[in-house]
Amino acid sequence: MSTGSLFEGGIPNEIASEIEDIRKRINRANFLYYVKDQPEISDAEYDRLMRRLQDLENEYPEAVTPDSPTQRVGAIPQTEFAPYQHAVPMLSLANAFDADELQAFDERCKRFLGMDRETPIEYVCELKFDGLACSLTYRGGILVAGATRGDGFQGENITENLRTIKAIPLNLHHSRRESPDAKAVPPVVEVRGEVILEHDEFRRINEEREINGEPTFANPRNAAAGSVRQLDSRITARRNLTMFCYGVGAYDGVDFDTHYEILCALGDWGFKVNPNIKVAGNIDEVVAYMNEWETKKESLPYDIDGMVVKVNSLDLQTRLGSVSRSPRWAIAYKYPAHQATTVIKEIRVQVGRTGALTPVAIMEPVEVSGVTVSRATLHNEDEVHRKDVRVSDTVVIQRAGEVIPEVVEVVKEKRVGDPEEFTMPDKCPVCGADVERAEGEAVARCVGIACPAQIRGRMIHFTSRNAMDIDGVGPALLDQFIDNGLIHDPADLYSLTIDQIIPLERMAKKSAENAINAIEVSKNANLSRLIYALGIRHVGERTAASLAQHFGSIEAVRNASEEELAEVQDIGPVVARSVAKFFDQEETTEVLRKLKEAGIDPTEEARRETEEFAGKTIVFTGAMEKLTREKAQELVFKLGANPSSSVSKNTDLVVAGDKAGSKLEKAISLGVKVISEDEFLEMVKQAGVEID
Ligand SMILES: [Zn+2]
Repeated sequence: MSTGSLFEGGIPNEIASEIEDIRKRINRANFLYYVKDQPEISDAEYDRLMRRLQDLENEYPEAVTPDSPTQRVGAIPQTEFAPYQHAVPMLSLANAFDADELQAFDERCKRFLGMDRETPIEYVCELKFDGLACSLTYRGGILVAGATRGDGFQGENITENLRTIKAIPLNLHHSRRESPDAKAVPPVVEVRGEVILEHDEFRRINEEREINGEPTFANPRNAAAGSVRQLDSRITARRNLTMFCYGVGAYDGVDFDTHYEILCALGDWGFKVNPNIKVAGNIDEVVAYMNEWETKKESLPYDIDGMVVKVNSLDLQTRLGSVSRSPRWAIAYKYPAHQATTVIKEIRVQVGRTGALTPVAIMEPVEVSGVTVSRATLHNEDEVHRKDVRVSDTVVIQRAGEVIPEVVEVVKEKRVGDPEEFTMPDKCPVCGADVERAEGEAVARCVGIACPAQIRGRMIHFTSRNAMDIDGVGPALLDQFIDNGLIHDPADLYSLTIDQIIPLERMAKKSAENAINAIEVSKNANLSRLIYALGIRHVGERTAASLAQHFGSIEAVRNASEEELAEVQDIGPVVARSVAKFFDQEETTEVLRKLKEAGIDPTEEARRETEEFAGKTIVFTGAMEKLTREKAQELVFKLGANPSSSVSKNTDLVVAGDKAGSKLEKAISLGVKVISEDEFLEMVKQAGVEID
């Protein structure tokens, strides 16, 4: 390109250089914020740059490159990860569990190198992170590929996911330290490190999952691995992962003499390198450093499970080589798990924010690695039985990283007499409603709609967009309602008065009025929304719609038996049981009574069983002119047919709009009947269903 511009074609030079300049500034800001923790520009300035770049890229889509900071938000979901072959295998390290084994490692190295025992070897000590090992490949300084370690030889290509992690530079020329002694960015380099989650973010993700009724992660490591291996990289982008880099794989055009030089170069190129690195003159210094961190590690904002010790000289590393997939020149020292023995005083059952009942062991206080512990989780009923934990038992408990202490095992020899076995209560210890444990699930839950333990989560769900859609009543306001005792269940929203809201903190008259209005408007919500809003376990939007269309009113759903519920399309025995149990609760009856009193008792036209459509599977493809996709699916449902998104030999009908692509081709090849949007609308009319 003779213009000197990065971009081909129709992008004016001044725009091209503005884009380049903004990218440089944003990448630099990310580096300072996420790697150095020393932000230089304000959030507002950062947002302004980001918006400007977004605008420019929208206007000139051909200017979008993989190293643009706009590419950190995640890409369209994948169905699977492609395998990724590591150019240089990512070996695993042998382990050492005490100081003697570290000394033995030192002696082995010397023996192999033919050195006498008195000559010291220089080592580099680094923290051993508890996360997911990944590799990043840069060509010309641009991130081109990222992969998991896998079995060391082949991992998974997760480039899109790693790109969303802001501590990972996308363009090394933008993050490189500008200093004469910083090594130049090599033409090719593969950088290795560990993707981790810090404790705060781990807690935030678990809280969010609890509210959404999703299983929580057991520890930050699992959460990091689960986040980085998401097929939908947009989810990865929402998790605040970070990555510490600690080594290189294949590289070209750069020379190193020691491992420490590599670490310094990584820092110079803009990677996040952990500051707690020690160059130890001999193995005794290594042991001292390891002892120092045994307690110091408790104060880190992330988990480590040990220390990695590497021979510093790359020349010696080469001479030592590797044996059976592990290098001879490195070892991982693992800190022992922190265990202690104590006695169980009580097994208490706690109710979480989603109604999950968790048995918790209340114990004689005991010190575990400097922390006094008096409670430990027993996870769930099955775990208690598997470990056979009973009150008065002597137990071994363990603390590991951020995880809540847990009971490892019972010291059976110390059991006195025959204490009673643990049983999960069948009523909620907080609200007294029934406890349900669905078939195949480990967790027992309280089904009470007015359970104080769950009120916050239930209210957030009730008011959410796909439920009653009460805009203007967000989690912060709901918290105030709850904390001030204004609401105890969802129906209480409808008896709130403006005089009750105005005195609340940060409440102007205008926003109080908006809240009241939004609550008022939500009274018009249809039956499917109301059923969904009640937050019945296993009842999502689709099931709520099936129930609404089958029964036509809340009263009819409430009066249906478990067997009748199970007859509804798409509803299996587990869901039927859950629905029946929910409506069986006194609290539910009371809430429904209050809702009805407030004027909320929607009815829905029951689903028709039309001859033309009943039981058929219909797929829409291409652009519709008169119908939105949502409306079309709703019509299909009303007619007794089932909308589907993929064409197979079980498809009965394909409605093809403008620019229909592969689905239409597939339908034709399978001999599935294809009709136009107008033909579909005509059929709907024939079936006697109104299109509004
Ligand atoms: Zn309860």
